[in-house]
Amino acid sequence: MKRMRIGIDLDGVVFMTLHRVLEKYNAIRGSKYTVDDVKTWDSHHWLDGDLLVYDLFRDPRIYRDLPVFPGAREILFELDQKHDVFLVTDTPVQCLPERMKQLEELFPPEEYRFTRERQMFVGKHKEHIVLDVLLDDKPENIERFQEAGYGIPVVFDWTLNRHLHGYLRVRNWKEFGELMARLEQEPDHPEKCREDKS
Ligand SMILES: [Mg+2]
Repeated sequence: MKRMRIGIDLDGVVFMTLHRVLEKYNAIRGSKYTVDDVKTWDSHHWLDGDLLVYDLFRDPRIYRDLPVFPGAREILFELDQKHDVFLVTDTPVQCLPERMKQLEELFPPEEYRFTRERQMFVGKHKEHIVLDVLLDDKPENIERFQEAGYGIPVVFDWTLNRHLHGYLRVRNWKEFGELMARLEQEPDHPEKCREDKS
């Protein structure tokens, strides 16, 4: 088995950030938007041009107790035992204290090495970090990491990245765990790990 350096994006991969933002947005505006209504990264276009959505994304209170995608804690626990896991995130700076509190609750330092050793990088350009695998949901991050050529980008599927083709893609954490089990055996041949989803 190859020991790998695995980069994990947080918003939209570990945390259901847009879900919570829209909950707050709907409560304020009396609307009923869901995540499927937002089809590109510039969310306000799908919300009648309302820029309030960006204030919510930058509101530290949102980051204290975000809902977590099913399976994220369990799969990250397993990966943390076998590999080097790094959290790589573009969290707004003013939201970092609240985020760190939630991360330490969700991934207690005594159980998770990546929290214990603070294996976390904050920044917009994730391609500067040398990783074997990057799990991310943002098209630009996937494309830039691919161009950097260090490793294998994996798309965490949702509406906003369905136009990306030719990349490994997972629909949930269970599928990411299964993909990693295959990559552990065939790290240099990601195409062998590609499943025909058609
Ligand atoms: Mg993301």
